[in-house]
Amino acid sequence: MILVKRNVDAEAIYKEVAALMVERRQCVALTGAGVSAESGIPTFRSKGGLWEKYDPIEFASIEAFRKDPSKYWSLRGEFIKDYDRYQPNKAHLALAELEKRGIVRCVITQNIDGLHKKAGSKNVIEIHGNLMEICCLTCGKEYKAPNIPEEMPPHCSCGGILKPNTVLFGEELPADVFMKAKEASAGCKIMLLVGTSAIVQPAASLPYLAKQNGAKIIEINIENAFPDADYFIMEKAGTALPNVVGEIDKIRRVNLI
Ligand SMILES: [Zn+2]
Repeated sequence: MILVKRNVDAEAIYKEVAALMVERRQCVALTGAGVSAESGIPTFRSKGGLWEKYDPIEFASIEAFRKDPSKYWSLRGEFIKDYDRYQPNKAHLALAELEKRGIVRCVITQNIDGLHKKAGSKNVIEIHGNLMEICCLTCGKEYKAPNIPEEMPPHCSCGGILKPNTVLFGEELPADVFMKAKEASAGCKIMLLVGTSAIVQPAASLPYLAKQNGAKIIEINIENAFPDADYFIMEKAGTALPNVVGEIDKIRRVNLI
């Protein structure tokens, strides 16, 4: 199922989008939960997501974590220990390919599962942090999931409590990381919005920043979330992105001849 703005048929829109990406390059991808869904990653906000079953303030706010980290760890611990089970899908791999081809400059992601890096993307800005990078709140010692102490909640060898490097409710985004995301958005010529509802601030401001600075916005999503997109491909990321890579490679082959 592919719907596009301006009544262009699906094949034509993939060709047009690919041509635009080859011509402009300097493309930044902003990704959200829709990209990870195809890897079986539990979602948060969508229907059936974690926050439908668990009150995020009770389970995943910084205040609650400081009072009693065991609730947070009861919710996330199993996923963190099982992390090796989760693999990047075709959408992650396609974005890594686009970076190798010199078209995608960086991936800004709201996902905390680390799958873009696992897929081979080098320049990844994880604005909400990374669940697999775990840090002692007392001494700052770093642990890498799934290699964390068995007990729940896990403690550091110094006795301090361990916390994943993710932005919990009530926490500010790290200023330096978000500054990088803003710079990348303001400087890009194309922004690919992939699998994100782009409604959660401050990430939601990034496509506007890109557009104000002259970038074209290409949205790939199962429903249109960004009404000002120049192109909207209504499709799963794992289907649409490999199609885009295929069309780009056709153009590159023609140009090489
Ligand atoms: Zn410690």
